[in-house]
Amino acid sequence: MSVAIYIYHDIGSRGHRPCSPERFSEDLENIRRAGLDILSFQTLLTHGVPDHEAVILTLDDGLSSHFEVAAPILDAFRMPAVFCVSTAPPPTASGPYMTPEQVRQLGERYEIAGHGHRHTPAATAKLSKEDVLADMTAMRETFARWGVHPIDVFVPPQGQNTQAVSEAAQLMGFKAIRTTQHGRVDAGTDFMNLPGIEGIPR
Ligand SMILES: [Zn+2]
Repeated sequence: MSVAIYIYHDIGSRGHRPCSPERFSEDLENIRRAGLDILSFQTLLTHGVPDHEAVILTLDDGLSSHFEVAAPILDAFRMPAVFCVSTAPPPTASGPYMTPEQVRQLGERYEIAGHGHRHTPAATAKLSKEDVLADMTAMRETFARWGVHPIDVFVPPQGQNTQAVSEAAQLMGFKAIRTTQHGRVDAGTDFMNLPGIEGIPR
């Protein structure tokens, strides 16, 4: 069967494709009512695509609304989710961002995935493999300093999975890359170029 990796940003009204808390709750309610299996990323990495329809919930950018709004809703539904965190995002982006302590606390009950150190989109900024390696190294060092243990999934800023990104990710030992390319994950999908779905269709 297939896995839909849903992509959220702010659970509020800021920045790129925000989702209101009410709508987020409705999405989770609809997933529950449809009886869909909600996977952790680790389950997908370990066991592959299941023989039934499943979803993975991802929230990008490490925004403070993820700690303050999304996590309490997910807690109430008892649903797993993956928070994709940039460790030094530019202040001009759609923040405010979670504090290191908030990321650490979230990491005790949810998966954390790396979303770059400075949130630099690789294609737009023409990053070389060395540039990406330096950014990923800074990201890993920062997570370690924060006491956060991310899963082996890289989520490139703006979904820009260039050749430099995929080569650097392999060198760094990442097991999967989640892009923003629209689509579902099936048995034939390359884990180093996983598609996602921005916004749950209704
Ligand atoms: Zn992002």
